[in-house]
Amino acid sequence: MKASQFFISTLKEAPADAEIVSHKLMMRAGLIKRLGAGIYNYMPMGLRTIRKVEGIIRDEMNRAGAIELLMPVVQPAELWQETGRWDKMGPELLRVKDRHERDFIIQPTSEEVITDIARQELRSYRQLPKNFYHIQTKFRDERRPRFGIMRGREFTMKDAYSFDRDLASARLSYQQMYDAYVRIFERLGLQFRAVAADTGAIGGDASHEFQVIADTGEDAIVYCPQSDYAANIELAEAVALTAERAAPTQALAKTPTPGKSTCPDVAELLGLALSRTVKSLVLATDEKNEAGEVVRSQVWLLLVRGDHDLNEVKASKVEGLKAGFRFATVAEIEAHFGCKPGYLGPIGLKQPVKVVADRTVANMSDFVCGANEADFHYTGVNWGRDLPEPDLVADIRNVVEGDPSPDGKGPLAIQRGIEVGHVFLLGTKYSAAMNATYLDENGKPQLMVMGCYGIGVTRILGAAIEQNHDERGIVWPDAIAPFTVVLCPIGYDRSAEVKAAADRLHDELLALGVDVMLDDRGERPGAMFADWELIGVPHRVVLSDRGLKDGKVEYQGRRDPQATAVAASEALAFLR
Ligand code: ATP
Ligand code: MG
Ligand code: MG
Ligand code: MG
Repeated sequence: MKASQFFISTLKEAPADAEIVSHKLMMRAGLIKRLGAGIYNYMPMGLRTIRKVEGIIRDEMNRAGAIELLMPVVQPAELWQETGRWDKMGPELLRVKDRHERDFIIQPTSEEVITDIARQELRSYRQLPKNFYHIQTKFRDERRPRFGIMRGREFTMKDAYSFDRDLASARLSYQQMYDAYVRIFERLGLQFRAVAADTGAIGGDASHEFQVIADTGEDAIVYCPQSDYAANIELAEAVALTAERAAPTQALAKTPTPGKSTCPDVAELLGLALSRTVKSLVLATDEKNEAGEVVRSQVWLLLVRGDHDLNEVKASKVEGLKAGFRFATVAEIEAHFGCKPGYLGPIGLKQPVKVVADRTVANMSDFVCGANEADFHYTGVNWGRDLPEPDLVADIRNVVEGDPSPDGKGPLAIQRGIEVGHVFLLGTKYSAAMNATYLDENGKPQLMVMGCYGIGVTRILGAAIEQNHDERGIVWPDAIAPFTVVLCPIGYDRSAEVKAAADRLHDELLALGVDVMLDDRGERPGAMFADWELIGVPHRVVLSDRGLKDGKVEYQGRRDPQATAVAASEALAFLR
């Protein structure tokens, strides 16, 4: 590729709304261009990296036996009504109407459509297992789109869905995807960690997230350097607040008044939850008599889900197990979590908690009193329904750095991460809702057991840059660089020799299948180098009259402190 035939558009300054380095550098290097909040054009330079990421993902998915298809972006509402997600998903789900006033959604994920395909196409046990995937545009109307394409509203995801005849076989499919993900993120050249994760709104049995380690990550991970224990803090983020240890919020020392929208305790709690990366809260209170004896102790569970969208805030005053929320005694919570209810989080943030009394909290009455959805599934603290697995219970503790890990192998450490991939063992949640059955050996219909597996294709660009940059710009891992090698001839337009040598090296590298860019724009060396350092091409060769006189070119790796002279005749062997 020659620069004059490509499109290069670099900026000296990043736009003011770019908060983190990857967003700034992507804008400055001309990889993406903003169209609206959370909506970006993938510009030619950025698209090259996206295609390489997709290529690696496709390669490993195919190797793992998954089969590519392509499902529509626009999907009929009926399927989403069938699983109940039409009502459950809240404003993150973009709904549209066609000219006949029929309801559609712009897909945020594709469980419904793939299950609809499976129930029609997979009729017999002989056709199982099957794993289908696609790489497709997603839309999620994120409450707070930010960091460029890292948390966009429109973005590209690879999503795969496995169908098995039983749980044991589904676990194998899950493991295959897990292993494929490890290979994918290794090939992408990223430092990552697979962590046990919340099964969230999608529901299900087992789940792991693939987290790229970066200080700007929105997730916090607890892990044990001495073992393979690692979990998203979401699992460990149950925040238990007691009268004794409610230091950050004095108001919490009072007994809350369940169900009263004006209750300052609840309002403050929700403000707290809304203001932090906290998704669930456990409030424990001891009611004392005049003598100071505890006459009643209770725990009020509040839950905040998703990206703290007010509509996703769920809380209940309902006694019993109706919505998965209930009151419990302090003794019960101790027995359940194996620790005293205490102030647990937000873990890893290091700053003291600031209570933000969000003005919207004043309108909380509906939430505080209601949200008793029959099938409401929530994070690790899964009271009254399928109780958490023992090791998950161990997660929900007063986690601070240095605590012993649940496997007892060493002290816990905490670091921040960017969720780039997520695997779920779904079980029969969707197949049951949509009656997706196959006929077993005895001709009896059985529910298919499913798994689903996502990778944030476009988010990976941001995550890779967060991990690989310096003061001059991006430092792409070779595998996903928009170009692997850039040839920078000095005096391409003046010197016949430089031009001939550059053209020849360019053609030879191309013939070898190396992704090479020849900068024939005739820019001054300083400006030319600055552009390619900003764009982050990992290998650079400078050709000049002076060097060529001695039969040399200059090679410099993007991380090298200086250039090395290489014999021009050996440049090819050196670069391949
Ligand atoms: P997050 O916790 O960051 O909101 P999620 O858990 O909602 O992500 P999943 O439903 O697990 O996301 O989707 C699979 C993958 O899609 C995620 O692991 C992530 O890499 C990517 N992804 C999710 N939301 C976005 C977004 N708004 N912009 C870019 N990529 C996203
Ligand atoms: Mg999300
Ligand atoms: Mg997540
Ligand atoms: Mg996820």
